[in-house]
Amino acid sequence: MHTKHPLIKKNDKVVVRTGKEKGKIGTVLRVDSERGRAVVEKVNVVKRHTKPGGKNAQGGIVEKEAPVHISNLMLVCTKCAEPSRLGKKRLEDGSSARVCKKCGEFIDG
Ligand SMILES: [Zn+2]
Repeated sequence: MHTKHPLIKKNDKVVVRTGKEKGKIGTVLRVDSERGRAVVEKVNVVKRHTKPGGKNAQGGIVEKEAPVHISNLMLVCTKCAEPSRLGKKRLEDGSSARVCKKCGEFIDG
C-alpha cells in the first residue's frame, strides 16, 4: 500500500494554506491519495451549468467543490485548534497514530 499523503483523512478539519481561499477552514469530504487531492467542504466551490434531464428537469447551475491539492491544506488540530504539523507515533501494538506536533495530543482518525 502506498500513499503519498497519509496524514490527511476524510472528516479531518483542514485550513487552506495558499491561494485565493487562504485561511478557509473546512471538513475533508473525500481524499484522492492517487492524485494527492482532497475535496473540502465549501472550499474551491465551482459553479457548473447543468443541462435539463434526469433528476434535474430544469437544468441550471449547481455548486460543487472541486478537489484541492493536499499540499495546499493543513490539518487543524482538534485539541489545540491550531493548524498543525502532524507527526506519527508508534503505539505499543505496533500500529501508528497521528499526533499534533504542537500540543502532542493524539488526533482521532
Ligand atoms: Zn494540537
